[in-house]
Amino acid sequence: MFYIDPHIHMVSRVTDDYETLARMGCLAVSEPAFWAGFDRGSVEGFRDYFRHLTEVEPRRAAQFGVQHYTWLCINAKEAENVELSREVIAAIPEFLDRPNVLGIGEIGLNKNTRNEATVFLEHVELALKYDLPILIHTPHLEDKYMGTRMILDMLADFPQLDPGRVLVDHVEEHTVRDVLQRGYWAGMTLYPVTKCTPKRAVDIIEMYGTERLLVNSAGDWGPSKPTAVPDFIMEMRSRGHAFEAIQQVVLENPMQFFGQSPNFKLQVPGRQAAALK
Ligand SMILES: [Zn+2]
Repeated sequence: MFYIDPHIHMVSRVTDDYETLARMGCLAVSEPAFWAGFDRGSVEGFRDYFRHLTEVEPRRAAQFGVQHYTWLCINAKEAENVELSREVIAAIPEFLDRPNVLGIGEIGLNKNTRNEATVFLEHVELALKYDLPILIHTPHLEDKYMGTRMILDMLADFPQLDPGRVLVDHVEEHTVRDVLQRGYWAGMTLYPVTKCTPKRAVDIIEMYGTERLLVNSAGDWGPSKPTAVPDFIMEMRSRGHAFEAIQQVVLENPMQFFGQSPNFKLQVPGRQAAALK
């Protein structure tokens, strides 16, 4: 089955992973900017990272017929340094016309601090200024519920922001309802140890339906599985869900959300280009 992985950090994966994703039916990946495993020393480190995301990874993906898209920001872990964050936010527009950039992300909170909130708000203003969609990281484990509430409250202060252009990622059972009720898209991250498992993600689909829900692997440096979306597909199939419902979650929903960005141009094999409009 064809699918899109809407959140995966390919800079931390080997080239063989692209080949495996292609064999599994992955048509496109979307890679939000994140923490490198260490705090970068200057804005130049981010300029190099943004070149990696907009030049190197699309080339690596294209060898296997996989389209590579990306989102730019300074992540919440490094947002504690507000001065550096502002330099990075000022540099982002230099890269916004690169052909694989979809929007601003993954912005959000990590430890729910005041500085993180300041930098989050400045990213939202940047996205509004350039009329771009937003991809949001919600905190891990014990900080998730409070952090998600803080993020939703901050977003509510932007009446001009269309919730249909915001994806709130890493939702779990205790945060998904609020996100969907307020009109945002919600992403479930399938991790082997923390976050959601494929079984729990299917449980959530069975409770909330297939509208505005996405699943991703968030494959990165840590314990993670780049083929977690196919695991979700297998779990949906084994429970007897209709092909159309599975396809909506793993292909149609990401296409609809990403399609709001002018740079998203995905050809689905066997479909007329006109059918995508
Ligand atoms: Zn991520």
